[in-house]
Amino acid sequence: MSNCCSSSPITQACPQCGAACKSVEMRTLYHQVRFPENQGLTPGTYYFCSLKNCLIGYFSLAGNSVPKLHLRSYQEIQKDKLCYCFDIEADLYQTALRANNADSIKDFVIQRTKSGECACELRNPSGQCCLAKFKHMEKEYTAQQ
Ligand SMILES: [Zn+2]
Repeated sequence: MSNCCSSSPITQACPQCGAACKSVEMRTLYHQVRFPENQGLTPGTYYFCSLKNCLIGYFSLAGNSVPKLHLRSYQEIQKDKLCYCFDIEADLYQTALRANNADSIKDFVIQRTKSGECACELRNPSGQCCLAKFKHMEKEYTAQQ
């Protein structure tokens, strides 16, 4: 597994919505924030707010913030993208779960991740591996049955 899946980031409450937000690396911000806003970023410890309706994308303890609208992945966030590396949307995976063929999708993502072919750190605005989200959805689905 690449190290994007094993790091456990610290969390901080979003100043806008109060959700618990995980820390992200500056390199994630530089890739996620649109031009020209990415030119004016103040380096620091930033956190990503994953709530799609919250206006804040990233915020730092020093009081700097980046609106979600300035993120390249804004549209994907609105569409509940599950896996930013391989372009898999949440409702597509939900459908696969119902049709009993979700495993092939998940196995593909696990295999690619194991081979170091994922790019969560840069593609996912949270900088986190998406595998946890697959497992979470699976659990939710099983609980509903
Ligand atoms: Zn928020």
